[in-house]
Amino acid sequence: MENAMITMKNINKGYMLGEERLPILKDINFQVNKGEYVAILGPSGSGKTTLMNMIGCMDVMDSGEYYLDGMAIHETKEDDLTMVRNQKIGFIFQNYQLIPTYNVMQNIIMPLLMRGMTHEEAEEKCKNTIKLLGLDHRIGHKPNELSGGQKQRLCIARALAVSPEVLLMDEPTSALDPISTLKIEELMETLKKKYTVVIVTHNMQQAARVSDDTAFFLVGEVIEKNATSEIFARPQDKRTEDYITGRFG
Ligand code: ADP
Ligand code: MG
Repeated sequence: MENAMITMKNINKGYMLGEERLPILKDINFQVNKGEYVAILGPSGSGKTTLMNMIGCMDVMDSGEYYLDGMAIHETKEDDLTMVRNQKIGFIFQNYQLIPTYNVMQNIIMPLLMRGMTHEEAEEKCKNTIKLLGLDHRIGHKPNELSGGQKQRLCIARALAVSPEVLLMDEPTSALDPISTLKIEELMETLKKKYTVVIVTHNMQQAARVSDDTAFFLVGEVIEKNATSEIFARPQDKRTEDYITGRFG
């Protein structure tokens, strides 16, 4: 357990649909170790984003225990959760969630300004990241003046700016063309060494290329989690095999 970054025990989460509760996550048990790079694979509507929001402390569970780097998140109050979120988590969304009226630099440094850094300090801190992500010629541009790939790199820059420990990526390349996807994947390779990463992807090749471990997710359950090479070569569960071989999903 000492090496665990994310430990979820019997997590349940549902949404109210009128009078009825629609269960989404059912008794999820899930662990990610520090420095691990885990892909979550599964058909759409199976609760992957719900799980990611839970991991990112953006939403609360109905029951269960969640430890993030040893901290009992299920017992933590909202104010403290905001702090955990700001300090530990970098979130990269499929639909970017950039501020349209801010330019590249303003989007990247915004979370740092919220932490009380001055403009100068924040810009200095982000200089290297901006270079690494190839955005240095774009710092004055607004999001709508960027390509999809550039927007996603901007999101990654914004997530990295706060020096998080955990990077959560929810289908980061599903809106991108193959070339931009490849660029983002190359970037993921370089991020691998520094962060604990959980990535949701529809793209099985991507899971196979970038992750150490893969968890297969189906209607609110983790069906199996294993070394990525094992999941693809020897899925233990028929449902995983069917998904991987394209028989459904
Ligand atoms: P995935 O990311 O795997 O596609 P989601 O976690 O987005 O799945 O959604 C899982 C299920 O939960 C879906 O059936 C979706 O309609 C439902 N759902 C997600 N968010 C809400 C919400 N805020 N209120 C009600 N139902 C929701
Ligand atoms: Mg989703």
